[in-house]
Amino acid sequence: MTGPAHCHPDEGDMSWTRLPVNCRDVDTDVFFPKGKDESRPRGAYDKALTICAGCPAQQQCLEYALRTNQADGVWGGRTPDQRKQMRGTFMRTHRTCVDCRTPIGHRGTGSQRCEPCQAASARQRQYEWAARRRLESPPT
Ligand code: SF4
Ligand SMILES: [Zn+2]
Repeated sequence: MTGPAHCHPDEGDMSWTRLPVNCRDVDTDVFFPKGKDESRPRGAYDKALTICAGCPAQQQCLEYALRTNQADGVWGGRTPDQRKQMRGTFMRTHRTCVDCRTPIGHRGTGSQRCEPCQAASARQRQYEWAARRRLESPPT
């Protein structure tokens, strides 16, 4: 078994898992210790945190975990509690377009789409509106 970098190989851009990540040959239990929070020994995450330190994919791994809301285990050198505290800010500053997944950052426009996708969506609505009009009032 290997660490968390290889747990979800098909969600979005996973190219970072091909980097020589530090957890490649480490047992998954090191990153996902068994038991509930309160039953785990103190420092249950320490070994994983040490392995993450200096990992070449630390930033991408952390962003992946925040974006996909991984609730358990150590990802990107952060514990579940640390990630919970970071997630709100991360999601506000790392928004992606709902259609094409392009990063759109924090623009304050309120739109969930990038500009090209907003334009495409507006064209589609116009097209549908015109088609409905043609159906409702066919030429005589
Ligand atoms: S940051 Fe940690 S969990 Fe993520 S790939 Fe590197 S060693 Fe694995
Ligand atoms: Zn888009």
